[in-house]
Amino acid sequence: MAMLPAPADTGIVFRRTDLAGRGVSIPATWRHVADMPMCTALEADGVQVATVEHVMAALAGGGIDNLVIEINGPEPPIMDGSAWPFVFLIECAGIAELQAPRRFLKILRPVTLAGGNRSAALKPGRGFSIDFEVDYDSGAIARQRYHIDLVDGAFKNELSRARTFGFLHEVDALRAAGLARGASLDNAIVVTRDGVLNEGGLRFPDEFVRHKALDALGDLYLAGAPIIGRFEGRRSGHRLNHRLLRALFQRPETWCWSDSSDAGTGLSAEPRRAAGG
Ligand SMILES: [Zn+2]
Repeated sequence: MAMLPAPADTGIVFRRTDLAGRGVSIPATWRHVADMPMCTALEADGVQVATVEHVMAALAGGGIDNLVIEINGPEPPIMDGSAWPFVFLIECAGIAELQAPRRFLKILRPVTLAGGNRSAALKPGRGFSIDFEVDYDSGAIARQRYHIDLVDGAFKNELSRARTFGFLHEVDALRAAGLARGASLDNAIVVTRDGVLNEGGLRFPDEFVRHKALDALGDLYLAGAPIIGRFEGRRSGHRLNHRLLRALFQRPETWCWSDSSDAGTGLSAEPRRAAGG
């Protein structure tokens, strides 16, 4: 995978370089979400790229608005199962500010989806914040609740290192779907009945719910712009996050575009449209 600088108004675009001659570009927006279990996949012209959520979270957290991501296979490298390696590489490459105003998506009225014991909502708020609660039927995780205001540095320090996790019995299902073929203890937390298999243990006591917040941030960045508002998720996952975005865009009275991030958010209100270098 390679990240290439892009001019203003490009947005985030994936390009499958292993399909030479077809020139397939896949915009990273909610309109291009493909139905795939247990990850966020994008599709255009019958071509997919799967498991983009951790890359998208790194871009959301880093304030990258315009980027072309070349990739020579069906999913980005999983790395250590977190967004940290992508954050590190983006910082090494540097970020350029473009001479164009940033565009934000401001939530004006609450949009809530709920069903069974799951729910997801976007509500008006200052800056962008995430409230997440997980409740697994597992002694190793059980109930965890987490809140984060995405002010400067918060994503990198509090969320980016939280790794993906799976239950021992689920690894087989992922492999059957052709995903996570390289899954190992190097790129995921593996949860058993009694704890985690990983020798080093957890990076945070509540690493699981932090990772779910990271996933939500990546999924919501498919809005096509940083969101000004508050996300509340209860046992939400990729599918519900995507449905929430679709519901939002179906109700024009619930949001508006804004060229200001509001004061005190950590999201810069200065003209600042960044491109990965
Ligand atoms: Zn994830």
